[in-house]
Amino acid sequence: MRAAILDGKKLAAEIRARITEEVTGLRAEFGLVPGLAVILAGDDPPSHSYVRSKEKACLQTGFHSEVYRRPESVTQGELLDLVARLNGDPQIHGILVQLPLPRRIEPQAILEAIRPDKDVDGFHPVNVGRLIAGAPAFVPCTPRGVMVLLEQAGIDPSGRRAVVLGRSNIVGKPMAALLLAANATVTVGHSRTAELAAVTREADILVVAIGKARFVTAEMVKPGAVVIDVGMNRVGDRLVGDVDFEAVGEVASHLTPVPGGVGPMTIAMLLQNTLEAARRT
Ligand code: NAP
Repeated sequence: MRAAILDGKKLAAEIRARITEEVTGLRAEFGLVPGLAVILAGDDPPSHSYVRSKEKACLQTGFHSEVYRRPESVTQGELLDLVARLNGDPQIHGILVQLPLPRRIEPQAILEAIRPDKDVDGFHPVNVGRLIAGAPAFVPCTPRGVMVLLEQAGIDPSGRRAVVLGRSNIVGKPMAALLLAANATVTVGHSRTAELAAVTREADILVVAIGKARFVTAEMVKPGAVVIDVGMNRVGDRLVGDVDFEAVGEVASHLTPVPGGVGPMTIAMLLQNTLEAARRT
């Protein structure tokens, strides 16, 4: 393994420790406790696991945490009523709707009902638009976490070729917008991209978010590239990324592990966004 490992677990722990201190100060000085409400509908096992992690992180950091678990049969109207109530609740500074939602429910309708100033996931069209326009916004947690990992490792995207593999609203598109804002020259690859390996080999910084276990091989990576693996795939009882960790580790200059890379940064950025939402009140 020649690549330096970008240790998201360690960095996230440092960020969380700093947030915990800030929360203690806010509580003592202003009686302010950042509050996050999470809405979880349906039976998707990974979603239940992610929400448990988020709830635990909130409590460890001294946040006020509320989790609303609703059955698969919940209606769109019931979820909209819940969002409306949380929008008006002064104890709640951030609202997160865990995706995916049950099939009958239009995710966009629910996400657009969240007050943009409580949209700590950054999925509301107002925050998406502000991100594209370069205005301050709630930035989706996973791409924000990737930018912090790069920054802490002293990797400046400015002037470099960045390739983002995956174009979801949650990861790929906001990731590309952030790298562009950081002055990288950005290409977005997806399932219809022709000559994908030739595209990824151009990258000085390669961010992979496609949900395909060990898809990116050493041949797809330029020697010395920084490779960020956002993927989380269950293979048997193991969690693996979208990158062939061992092989790419021989070629890349920097690489994130799975687990312990981007995942912990996502939760740290959720706490950071919620803290910022609380500070603005
Ligand atoms: P998604 O909504 O399913 O999007 C996947 C994207 O990958 C799509 O744009 C798709 O292209 C592209 N893609 C799929 N197969 C491809 C292929 N063979 N070649 C090139 N592109 C391909 O997934 P997501 O929500 O962005 O998540 C991606 C991965 O990141 C998943 O493993 C997820 O679990 C993980 N994730 C991790 C975190 C974290 O905190 N670490 C957070 C969020 C997501 P098309 O658009 O053409 O279909």
